[in-house]
Amino acid sequence: MLYISESLNQLIEEFSQLPGIGKKSAQRLALYILKLPKEDVLKISQALVNVKERMKYCSICCNFTETDPCGICSSSKREVDTICVVAEPNDVLAIEKTSEYHGVYHVLGGSLSPLEGIGPEDLKVKELLVRICSDVDEVILALNPNIEGEATTIYLSRLLKPLGVKVTRLARGIPIGGDLEFADEATLTRALEGRVVV
Ligand code: ZN
Repeated sequence: MLYISESLNQLIEEFSQLPGIGKKSAQRLALYILKLPKEDVLKISQALVNVKERMKYCSICCNFTETDPCGICSSSKREVDTICVVAEPNDVLAIEKTSEYHGVYHVLGGSLSPLEGIGPEDLKVKELLVRICSDVDEVILALNPNIEGEATTIYLSRLLKPLGVKVTRLARGIPIGGDLEFADEATLTRALEGRVVV
C-alpha cells in the first residue's frame, strides 16, 4: 500500500489475521484505533496482554480459565456424572446460555480433520479418557454437525463405548454444516433434550 504509513499498515495487517475480519474491516478498525484517545488504546492493549497472561487451560475440562480448576469444574452445583464433550470454548458458552445443562464439560480444542492433518493426538482425547471412571454415567458428544464433527463423534463413540459408559449425541435439529455456537438457545435446548444413544 503506497500511501499508508508503515505503522498503520502493520496494524491493518494484524487485524486482518483475525477470524472473520477482511481487509476492509481491518482498515476500519485500524482507523478507529487511530482516532481513539491514547488512554483508551492503552486499555485495549492491556486487556489483550492480560487475557494472554492470566488465562490458562483448566486441568480437568481443558476449557480456558483464570482459576484452575475452572468455575464449572469446581462448582458443587454441577452434576459431575455427565460430561458434555465440545470442540471449542465457544460451544461451552453457547450451551451455558441455554441454562438447561447442569453437567460438566470437556473441551477437545478442535475436531478431527484428516484434510487439515488434525488427528486424535492433536485434541484433548487422552485427557477425556482419564476422566472416564465409574462415577461417570453419560458422555454427551455435542460436536458440530459437519464432516469434522461427525468424524469426531464416530471416533469418540468407538473409543468410549467399550469403557462401559453411556454415550449420547445431540438430536438433529442444528442445521447441517452449522455451528453450535450460532445455534439459537431453543434449538440447542431441544437438541440437548432429545439426545440419542450412539
Ligand atoms: Zn474445568
